[in-house]
Amino acid sequence: PSLLNLSRRLRRPSFIQIGRVRAVASHIVGYPRIGPKRELKFALESFWDGRSSAEDLEKVAKDLRMSIWKQMADAGTKFIPSNTFSYYDHILDTTVMLGAVPHRYGWTGGEIGFDVYFSMARGDATLPAMEMTKWFDTNYHYIVPELGPDLKFSCASHKAVNEYKEAKELGIETIPVLVGPVSYLLLSKLAEGIEKPFSLLSLLQKIIPVYKEVVSELKAAGATWVQLDEPTLVLDLDSDQLKAFTDAYTQLEESLHGLNVLVETYFADVPADAYRVVTGLRGVSAIGFDLVHGEKTLELIQDLSFPSDKYLFAGVVDGRNIWANDLSASLRTLKTLEGIVGKDKLVVSTSCSLLHTPVDLVNETKLDGEIKSWLAFAAQKIVEVNELAKALRGEKNEAFFSANAAAQASRKSSPRVNDKAVQEAASALRGSDHRRATPVTSRLDAQQKKLNLPILPTTTIGSFPQTRYLRRIRREYKESKISEAEYVKAIKEEISKVVRLQEELDIDVLVHGEPERNDMVEYFGEQLKGFAFTVNGWVQSYGSRCVKPPIIYGDVSRPKPMTVFWSTAAQSMTTRPIKGMLTGPVTILSWSFVRNDQPRFETCYQIALAIKNEVEDLEAAGIPVIQIDEAALREGLPLCKSEQAFYLEWAVHAFRITSCGVQDTTQIHTHMCYSNFNNIIHSIIDMDADVVTIENSRSADKLLSVFREGVRYHAGIGPGVYDIHSPRIPSAEDIGNRINKMLAVLEKNALWVNPDCGLKTRKYSEVIPALTNMVAAAKLLRTQL
Ligand code: GLN
Ligand code: ZN
Repeated sequence: PSLLNLSRRLRRPSFIQIGRVRAVASHIVGYPRIGPKRELKFALESFWDGRSSAEDLEKVAKDLRMSIWKQMADAGTKFIPSNTFSYYDHILDTTVMLGAVPHRYGWTGGEIGFDVYFSMARGDATLPAMEMTKWFDTNYHYIVPELGPDLKFSCASHKAVNEYKEAKELGIETIPVLVGPVSYLLLSKLAEGIEKPFSLLSLLQKIIPVYKEVVSELKAAGATWVQLDEPTLVLDLDSDQLKAFTDAYTQLEESLHGLNVLVETYFADVPADAYRVVTGLRGVSAIGFDLVHGEKTLELIQDLSFPSDKYLFAGVVDGRNIWANDLSASLRTLKTLEGIVGKDKLVVSTSCSLLHTPVDLVNETKLDGEIKSWLAFAAQKIVEVNELAKALRGEKNEAFFSANAAAQASRKSSPRVNDKAVQEAASALRGSDHRRATPVTSRLDAQQKKLNLPILPTTTIGSFPQTRYLRRIRREYKESKISEAEYVKAIKEEISKVVRLQEELDIDVLVHGEPERNDMVEYFGEQLKGFAFTVNGWVQSYGSRCVKPPIIYGDVSRPKPMTVFWSTAAQSMTTRPIKGMLTGPVTILSWSFVRNDQPRFETCYQIALAIKNEVEDLEAAGIPVIQIDEAALREGLPLCKSEQAFYLEWAVHAFRITSCGVQDTTQIHTHMCYSNFNNIIHSIIDMDADVVTIENSRSADKLLSVFREGVRYHAGIGPGVYDIHSPRIPSAEDIGNRINKMLAVLEKNALWVNPDCGLKTRKYSEVIPALTNMVAAAKLLRTQL
């Protein structure tokens, strides 16, 4: 070896004990906390309910951490993360580390314990929880820090160092993970009541000292590496925001001395200006990139070069999907990188934390063997990362690689994946356009002639309360404990109760109440071809809440009608119009694990065609109004601004595909559960639905401001008149006031009266008085218009 190489080797951190001269190491960005069988969820809920002690909860958490670390160590992982465990959320943990507790939680100092922590996370008898919001474009939600100029920061949690020591006691050297200081601030919001011109980034001066303290504690405990997650680097940041990174790391430099620092980015490409900033940060010895969702980063590394003194952590194993890695493709990418940075500076990693994948495929006992061979959950991804690193070190596990290649090949050619007819139909949609022939105003006239609705028509969003009885009926039917006839009878009885209730309440457009549905995506996925379901494929959504997304593995088609039976049953029970209820293609796509062997829009178009068939069957069966929910349209918006227009174009097109084939007299509704769409209002209009019902009451009429600004809108619109997330029953007066506010900006003929969202999580004792008041308010206003 040349002298240069020798001196480079000498600078290598001591704990990577590398026997060979050139060794590519392995790293995992983060790991699921919830446990292979949701052990943490059950421990948390039992603790919250007072059924178990804090010690019980801590024991479960400790065991989980231990088994995760051991698993990573056994697989040969060099950089094993610690402090990625969390009792609720890692941003909340950072808030606690910084002592940034909002005053109302009454914390007065000292190490923050479970009481304050869980009050912030979940609220308590007297205080509401802190706000929760989506973590980038994932389905994970974090607790939003509330910061302001008068908040004092101090180190109020030693979790990072405690976890480091805990692993060390087990004989496992880890890389402690912290949320980076700049991303922390960029993901925060201003505390209420703060004068607007206050820059959250100005708080850097105040939080850096706490970071310094934590870092020096870690050093004192023996840590040689630390990972600072700065995922906001993938967003389109302005120059002030980018400068904050340079400032922060310059300030930290001295305290980071003697420590190897990995700055980890994920979820997308790091834009060129951010790339220049991150590769130039002082005191930083390694940078992690997402090379799965970032498609241009590799080019950047090639074109702009990569600092020769830094390690490159290459995220080639997807942390957000469930597919087995295409190992030979990854190997090619890694070899390219090796050529640029050298063998001793390359580390194989995951694209992001594995938090967004289910835990272990081993627990999938019901999944078909062939489909299973195509998958990798978190535990399997650890092995993939390590096998890739080994292969680069010249210790390729041929058996593992050839099994992987065989699975990749079987996935490509399997008849269960490929359906020629569906592929052709979907690809024919590319570049085409689909619209109803008649403009919305004339359609509304035609519909009104048929439906004859009063002004300010009332409706609900679809589901009625899901009782324990209903859940039992569905479960017993699934387990074949009751016959199909008994099941149908029970569900029809429920529908009839819901229909009768709505008639008594004097609602104008009725729903069947969705008693046959567990979940608005699963219900359709179970009936469509190309979907598979797991038993334990849980992914944390927030706190103890997990979701189990379906897996779309093949071309999607609809073998037979999915909702026509129940909707026509409901319609036969009343002379009022029944609204058929479907989940839209974008939402089905967003809330599933999606194929990675074709573009998302291709899969979305396939689903759109299946839903289109359903829409047309409902129409043919005499259902006059059909709602196609697109709850997830907004959340599918890509992080990178330059990709947003393309997404909106195909997403909106997919929606129009579902609805473009109906007659003018059939009324198409859509529903969305957020109102933060000021920037996508034109896309929503372009969906060309006849009526849009939309969440509105939790967000202080943000929605109305869009219309106040003069957006031209001709379709019907139902901004929610009350918040269904709260048990509070709104008075008729409250609702009337809200409607009046809407009337000030919206045409009276356009306005619908409905709650914010479905009622399935509420009790009848809340739903009946709330809807009674809603109808009363609408009726009173009708007399005044
Ligand atoms: N139709 C669905 C329901 O009422 C809509 C749910 C949603 O928007 N999340 O439950
Ligand atoms: Zn909703």
